[in-house]
Amino acid sequence: MAAILIGACLFYFCVDGISSIRPLPDNRTGQKAADPAGQTPSKSSPVSIDSPPQALAKEGPVENLSRLEQKQAPQSMAGRKIEPKGRSRKTIWIIAAVVLAAGVAAYFLLKKKEKKDQAPATPLKPPRPVYMVLFTHIEDNTPAGVLGTPACRTSYLSLRARLIELAVLVRNRGLRWSFEPDWKFLEAALLYEDDAVRASTGGVNVLRYLRDSLGAAIDPHSHENGGYNYTDVADLLERLGAGGSTVIGGHIWDPSLPQFQGWDRFRVPVFGQKYPSAVWRGDILMGSGTPNHVNDPVVSGVWRPKDRDHYWEDDPAGNIACVGAWKGDIAGISDLTALYRSGEADAACMLTASYHLKPADITSPGGLAAIESGVLGPLAALRDGGQAVLTDFTALVNTWKTQFGGRACIYRLR
Ligand SMILES: [Zn+2]
Repeated sequence: MAAILIGACLFYFCVDGISSIRPLPDNRTGQKAADPAGQTPSKSSPVSIDSPPQALAKEGPVENLSRLEQKQAPQSMAGRKIEPKGRSRKTIWIIAAVVLAAGVAAYFLLKKKEKKDQAPATPLKPPRPVYMVLFTHIEDNTPAGVLGTPACRTSYLSLRARLIELAVLVRNRGLRWSFEPDWKFLEAALLYEDDAVRASTGGVNVLRYLRDSLGAAIDPHSHENGGYNYTDVADLLERLGAGGSTVIGGHIWDPSLPQFQGWDRFRVPVFGQKYPSAVWRGDILMGSGTPNHVNDPVVSGVWRPKDRDHYWEDDPAGNIACVGAWKGDIAGISDLTALYRSGEADAACMLTASYHLKPADITSPGGLAAIESGVLGPLAALRDGGQAVLTDFTALVNTWKTQFGGRACIYRLR
């Protein structure tokens, strides 16, 4: 509306400008226009059509031109209203048309902008935290060397010291870390955690120290090689006083692969292979992996896989929950936060991610400092900003059941 007024005003002034040019000479009679002050102008008045050329020079070009035209006009034109015409008149009308067009254009542009300003922006949802698990897998080739040898003991003690250092860093940040060893590290612990070794950790073995004094979670991890299955690993943890977890700490999910681990065995308790009297039922799957992690799925959320051929479908009656690892990095947390904000992810959905702190990074020179600055610091910042909750797999699934009503959500990229 303002634009209409502006356009109208511009047009008015333009037209007014034209009319203000017109009355300068009262051409009807060939007489001079009355002086505003009521004085009778002399014949040499510059407004007179009889003015000498030097007087005309004082006027604007349009007026000069029209006067010259009038002066040169044939006598037959006398007595007729003389208006600016020819080039001058054309110019005025062009200006008027341009101004009018500009006004109309401005009106539509402003109207479009007003419409845009008034259009309700997609409301951003309040951010919800992504449930994040920081974990470490110790493979079944660790510690290096043959169990029982001095070299293996040295390797074990070196790793032990580094794990404690890491757990301290994690605790100092108020974060949470899940330690998931395979069978060899646990057999080494049973061998090497004597009184002398335990003296540095309050008289308890490293697993109990990590869990009870430094706040780490302890879960089994098993490639089910070397004659040990998941139940055997869970049993070793039990014997070390650090058992109780029902997390199946990583498995090959794809039934078409020869390495498929048959997660659905855990619908019922499974007996040990190395220790046949041991029995255990895992009910939380994490790290749905592929061999060497070459083609791991990218999925976030918690669900109960229906069966081995319908892994990505939720079965509300299923007794095994699966936690999506998402991209396995920290930047991916922001992707999930963005899904919440845009509303693409329902606030009633729990979105999840996990990050693997690799043993090679933990033990390499400068590795812990890099973890501190590159992982723990950024995660603490995300936690402080409400974007991430650092948890463990067991607590995560408990939260999913109690705070999210066990509602399955599978946000899968591949
Ligand atoms: Zn592994």
